[in-house]
Amino acid sequence: MTSAPPRPILDPNTLKPETRLVHAGILRSQFGENAEGLFLTQGYVYDEAETAEARFSGKEPGFVYSRYSNPTVAMFEARMAALEGAEACRATASGMAAVTSAMLCLVRAGDHVVAGRALFGSCRYVIEDLLPRFGVASTLVDGTDLKAWENAIRPNTRAFFLESPTNPTLEILDIPAIAKLARKAKARLVVDNVFATPLLQSPLKLGADVVVYSATKHIDGQGRVLGGAILASQALIAEHIHNFLRQTGPCLSPFNAWVLLKGIETLQLRVERMQAGARKIADFLAKQKGVTKVLYPGRADHPQAKLAKRQMKGGGTLVSFEVAGGKKGAFRFSNALRLIRISNNLGDAKSLITHPATTTHQRFSREARAEMGIGDGLLRLSVGLEHPDDLRDDLARGLKAL
Ligand SMILES: *Cc1c(COP(=O)(O)O)cnc(C)c1O
Repeated sequence: MTSAPPRPILDPNTLKPETRLVHAGILRSQFGENAEGLFLTQGYVYDEAETAEARFSGKEPGFVYSRYSNPTVAMFEARMAALEGAEACRATASGMAAVTSAMLCLVRAGDHVVAGRALFGSCRYVIEDLLPRFGVASTLVDGTDLKAWENAIRPNTRAFFLESPTNPTLEILDIPAIAKLARKAKARLVVDNVFATPLLQSPLKLGADVVVYSATKHIDGQGRVLGGAILASQALIAEHIHNFLRQTGPCLSPFNAWVLLKGIETLQLRVERMQAGARKIADFLAKQKGVTKVLYPGRADHPQAKLAKRQMKGGGTLVSFEVAGGKKGAFRFSNALRLIRISNNLGDAKSLITHPATTTHQRFSREARAEMGIGDGLLRLSVGLEHPDDLRDDLARGLKAL
């Protein structure tokens, strides 16, 4: 053993995103393990009573209880923050725990929230049903209509919420313009960035105050665990989010954090490949008889193609399309597939197809669905890591069945 000082190691946060995905946030134990340690522990022990006292008062940093923080979860949070370019991150048990916590923490009874109406079903429940039960009014607007956002603002509006691209119609909302309106109204903008992934869109840089993720999707990307994250400035997390999460307990399990950490290492590779596949599939579908509409933010015929190019680094990994024959056509198409599986998950290594009108958006009336652009023939395809030719051949099977 030499007594030389430890070799200085580069701070991953000063390096390129690909490098951060692999190195950021690692905490090594006294064993010097290479892979991230999985700390399955609820609590922590202290050498002396004075240490416990100092930890509880916050005078000394360190772990006290895994509902508050845990080394494996802390590594996941640090890596997510590095990936997003955010000052702070808090991990949650699921994407919905992230959305619900972020929204509850920014408002109180008597406040008002404005949200884009094309939302993941459970997000829409939080905005439309849950918040009003606690005296927080909400207005849902056509998210692509900036005038509608502006007109919805009330003196008591405290938060904006949006997803972009939206589910399942892949509309693109103008994040910088909506952020500007939010700032003018002294409301905070929360962006659910699941469909874009942290690699293709950076809402904080576009003016958002808070970004939320379902890590269940691309970040795990291999269909294993649920998880979520809330990212924002240190001040916003400290003032609004930190205490709520500690005291109410929607915390991420260390095991799931560990799985997600390993998922992040390959996020770039997977998203790039899946996006290249999605692009090919969208171009293929657009040429087919029987396909009446293709929605892909990376195509020139997308209604907000220019905006997509401005605020995203690519079209993403999802393609939505409408087949002829309404629900019957969509069911025939889905049932004829032999490789692509029917599932409502997304961002997975395996390609998955879903019929929103009868699954994720079943609870809405036909009229409400039509308003969101969800016709009976609409299908949402999450493109996975398979060879695009195999996917194309499978989709041809579906088309033949129409
Ligand atoms: C899946 C999803 C959520 C919810 O995430 P869970 O991890 O399933 O709780 C929220 N928003 C969007 C856009 C999603 O796709």
